[in-house]
Amino acid sequence: MAGLSKSRLIAHLQCPKRLWLQMNKPELTVVDASQQSRMDAGNVVGDIARQLHPGGILIDGGSLSQALKDTEALLAKPKRVPVFEATFNADSVLVRNDLLLPERGGYHLAEVKSSTSVKSYHLQDVAIQAHVAEACGVKVKRISVVHINNQFVYPGNEDYQGLFTTVDVTSQARDLQPEVPGWIKAAQKTLKGKEPRVETGAQCTDPYECPFIGYCHPAADPEAYPVEELPRIGKQADALRAEGYDDIRELPRDRLRNDSHLLVWDSLQKGKPVLRKEVAAAMSTLAWPRYYMDFETISFAAPIWAGTRPYQQVPFQWSCHVESHTGTLRERGWLAEGLEDPRREFVETLLAAIGPRGSVLVWNASFERSRLQEMAVAFPEHAEALQSIINRMVDLLVIARDHYYHPDMRGSWSIKAVLPTVAPELDYSELEVGDGGMAQEAFLELLSPETDPARALQVRAALVEYCGRDTQAMVELAKFFEGRRKASRRSPARSPSPA
Ligand code: SF4
Repeated sequence: MAGLSKSRLIAHLQCPKRLWLQMNKPELTVVDASQQSRMDAGNVVGDIARQLHPGGILIDGGSLSQALKDTEALLAKPKRVPVFEATFNADSVLVRNDLLLPERGGYHLAEVKSSTSVKSYHLQDVAIQAHVAEACGVKVKRISVVHINNQFVYPGNEDYQGLFTTVDVTSQARDLQPEVPGWIKAAQKTLKGKEPRVETGAQCTDPYECPFIGYCHPAADPEAYPVEELPRIGKQADALRAEGYDDIRELPRDRLRNDSHLLVWDSLQKGKPVLRKEVAAAMSTLAWPRYYMDFETISFAAPIWAGTRPYQQVPFQWSCHVESHTGTLRERGWLAEGLEDPRREFVETLLAAIGPRGSVLVWNASFERSRLQEMAVAFPEHAEALQSIINRMVDLLVIARDHYYHPDMRGSWSIKAVLPTVAPELDYSELEVGDGGMAQEAFLELLSPETDPARALQVRAALVEYCGRDTQAMVELAKFFEGRRKASRRSPARSPSPA
């Protein structure tokens, strides 16, 4: 039987079936782009944490047995130094400590996390680390979680002093440590048995998104409309199910209080889309010209541009379709070039494209509004002009949510859920960059010195097409809400029903 590691024990604590699948059916693992970027962020943060402890030695010997030997040899030396990735094996569990720092009478064991606070599963993590290290004879005097300090502002020049907050969790870890042998036994028992029967539940996404969700969660029945599809239903869904209502269509109309729920219910009862006639009044408030605007952003656990904070959403691209009252449409856009901080150019090109009059349409205004507010703080000389854009912003998402529903939207008003019900010809799936996460990955590729010029051109074109598709989508949806276009024939549904 394969040995255990700290990660495997943590996987078992999340769900026994997860560990069993990991060990017995690893081919079922699906790691999405966001999980991969979290892992990459963790690696970068780990490197920086090591650099903040000069004179330390990284245990990076090729094989595991070499790493164990190197750790033992290093800790036996009279001159003690910080050890990175110190490797220990005891009680059939293998661990690698991020930081093992000499201090009076022993060592300070510290685990580096790319989160911005200490989570309960970090405590389990350090309890396992300490248990195994101590079983190998290490005197652990102090135990910490080192996490990202989200108030840190990067001064530039690779100066990351202050990026981390070290939280002493010695007493919490000590409280958990007696449980570790039980965790080990339980995991060993699971691995000796058959595939555990575990119901899906909160553990599938908490504390981590499980990579076996695709395997454990049965495919949704396309003919069913579960009550969970009601917008923002939350825990009320459990109450409805307890009352015997599984499908939205089974609910009596007077059981619904929320206006969005009524919209969904109406559409499902009719079995076709509903566009409320009140949408005309909402759209009539929009002024000309209209600027359909969208941003793409990127964030880093360890900021790379001076003056930015960890996880700050830094805009690197905008797209804007400008529509005049005569119906002419112009597409504008900007995408950062080079490795420099893109924010000033972002602001200045955007302000040059968006005139002083007219409505600025966005999808989910809070995102664009927050970015513009941040830019106004960073570049106060442009604050007034940026505030003018904010003041003229209209959230098409709110108009859609109040007035339009199509059964195929499956409870979502994301632009990628709404658009195919109106303009399926503008399909995102044909694009090389098809969502915000892919746009971030693509921009990282542009920032990488390893990307050759031909590939960079291809990636830039894909990003321009993607961001432009978002603003084109808003144009088509606005036209649809105003009766200036019909849903395309390729739409699986019929024309909207007046309500
Ligand atoms: S998807 Fe849920 S039930 Fe399945 S292994 Fe993962 S956590 Fe367990």
